Amino acid sequence: MSKKLNPKELYRLPWSLTDNGISWLEVTTKCNLHCKGCYRDQTKDGHKTLEKIQEDLDVFKAKRNSDCMSIAGGDPLVHPQIVEIVKMIKDMGWKPILNTNGIALTHELLEQLKEAGVFGFTFHVDLSQGRPDAPASAKTEGDLNFIREKYARMLANVGGNIACSFNQTVTEKTLNQLPEVYEWALRNVDIVHSIVYILYREPGMCPQFDNFVNGKKIVMPYENTDWGDGKILKAQDAVDMIRTIEPTYEPSAYLNGTCDPDSMKWLLGVRVGQGDKTYGFVSPKFQKIVQHVFHIVKGKWLSYASPSVSVAGKITMILFSLVDKEMRKTLVNFLKSNITTPWNLFRKVSFQGFMVIQPVDFLEDGRQNMCDGCPDMTVHNGKLYWSCRLEEIKEYGTFLTTYPRQSEKTDSDVIQTSEEETQRAQ
Ligand code: SF4
Repeated sequence: MSKKLNPKELYRLPWSLTDNGISWLEVTTKCNLHCKGCYRDQTKDGHKTLEKIQEDLDVFKAKRNSDCMSIAGGDPLVHPQIVEIVKMIKDMGWKPILNTNGIALTHELLEQLKEAGVFGFTFHVDLSQGRPDAPASAKTEGDLNFIREKYARMLANVGGNIACSFNQTVTEKTLNQLPEVYEWALRNVDIVHSIVYILYREPGMCPQFDNFVNGKKIVMPYENTDWGDGKILKAQDAVDMIRTIEPTYEPSAYLNGTCDPDSMKWLLGVRVGQGDKTYGFVSPKFQKIVQHVFHIVKGKWLSYASPSVSVAGKITMILFSLVDKEMRKTLVNFLKSNITTPWNLFRKVSFQGFMVIQPVDFLEDGRQNMCDGCPDMTVHNGKLYWSCRLEEIKEYGTFLTTYPRQSEKTDSDVIQTSEEETQRAQ
């Protein structure tokens, strides 16, 4: 294991339920793919009407301040009114970010989305999807880099300064392939602004728990996928793997868990580099200054930065060097490294994000450790819910509770509260 992650050494993003970098709008349950282990039931609900979407946006406006609106599903690009939806979101003051598998993206649609004000795309591309554009010979995540590159180039070619991110689910089987996408992103730093590794979870990975709805035990209508085989990965596993090819990888900001303060549920490292040459990673202090200055100026916590800012690395390095010793080191690395290649001093220096998301974990006692300050809260029937567990609300009207599995209860298992203890509790 590489150096252990320590929350005390990182900046805890100041995101909360009511004031957050991101919110999550689901516009449809329909999708043009069937990824293994997808948490949304495509047979329910279908496309939301524009009126329903307006209602959801009004709930967000009333209950939650945020910089970006992730537009999700299903796949949002299969919604026939996606261009109008992007415009509605932009007009209401959010940065619209489309979370899509990209399959339905054409040049014509991209032009229209740009016109409507799309701020960025997060493309989900991985081997779990059974993509029609993936060759049958594709065996590892790196074999899909040509698909990622196609989307990154589409955005770069259409212009308009559109942010380009990629996410992928990671399981124990694909953990060792994580560097293939990391290295590809370095080579394409000018057009790829961030990579998000989502550590895969599915209920069948935790057979040691029983599920209850309002105190009643239920058997989940769920089958394990072969995608989820293996151990439950933690952020440290992904960081260790990144460090096999980028030993200096150093995250700077995180969100902790709702039950376990030491868990890293969202972990963000931002690299400063030119091509595959890394000069350093931004510090927790840098993150803190950026978040707070943005909040003072814009009244929101920052999530996605504009690509034009991402490539303004040199001026940012110089300014932050005045107040941040880590950035001074990065600037020195940049200058030293270019002594023999002085023409590189005139090339762009970019910021590039590498993030790890560690979704719900079950603690030994059955508590569910969610992301504290969840950025992906969504609206359902006028209320805010974790989007990763919305299916529980749709199915049961409440979230499931979990307890360590026990053999059939006998009378002796029932915990008796003595009269004395009851009185003390009152
Ligand atoms: S709690 Fe669930 S929906 Fe929220 S950020 Fe974590 S994984 Fe995403």
